[in-house]
Amino acid sequence: MSTDIPIHPNSDESDAADRPAIGFDIGGTNLRAAVVSADGQVLYRVQTSSDGSVDAIERGIVQTSERLVERFPDVSAIGLAVAGFLDSDRQTVRFAPHLPWRDANVVKRLSLLLPCPLQLEHDANSAAWGEYRFGAARGADNWVLFALGTGIGGAMMQGGEIYRGAYGTAPEFGHLTVVPDGRPCSCGKRGCLERYCSGTALVTTAQELSESGRYFSRLTDGLVAGSVTGTDVVSAARQGDELALAAI
Ligand SMILES: [Zn+2]
Repeated sequence: MSTDIPIHPNSDESDAADRPAIGFDIGGTNLRAAVVSADGQVLYRVQTSSDGSVDAIERGIVQTSERLVERFPDVSAIGLAVAGFLDSDRQTVRFAPHLPWRDANVVKRLSLLLPCPLQLEHDANSAAWGEYRFGAARGADNWVLFALGTGIGGAMMQGGEIYRGAYGTAPEFGHLTVVPDGRPCSCGKRGCLERYCSGTALVTTAQELSESGRYFSRLTDGLVAGSVTGTDVVSAARQGDELALAAI
């Protein structure tokens, strides 16, 4: 494997751990990146959008990295947080429900084009590592992370190590079956936890309640048009909207 990955000129410097790194959050249409100092301070943030194709996402990663390294020349490494299943050596994205990579060796493809060494990591594990190093989980060696958003991300740490399971894809709490034969999920199964307890699920529940005709709600038109987000449901609930309250 090491023969596949180029050695970057600054990759083996002994002070790499004291230098800033670039972190990417790869979404379907948004690419967020930050330069983070060795002590966890976010030095700079940038966000770009793409059409969601493999080419556009990979080009966005390379171009953004080049811009950031130009501005922060002492950057030592680049990390990609990916919401998807990675293989156990974290080189390949096997499958990602919201991203176009399928069995794609992203590290091999991008390392040739990037100015620094690249590390791929599951997005929830990346969040967990951040909380462990600099956030809520500092000093805790055994703990669980739930990341609530469009879906549900999960990570688990045991004895200070991220738990990856037999195939490198554990724990994926969001895709535990909680309702047999329930709502279809983008992972291919039905009844997953994140179909019932996430921002997206809140909209689905609001739609179902709206179709029941039992509620008068300012969200009704938007629900029919498909323009309502989880955030909209929450703010409507805060203003006392009956349907939104029932959905929550
Ligand atoms: Zn699922």
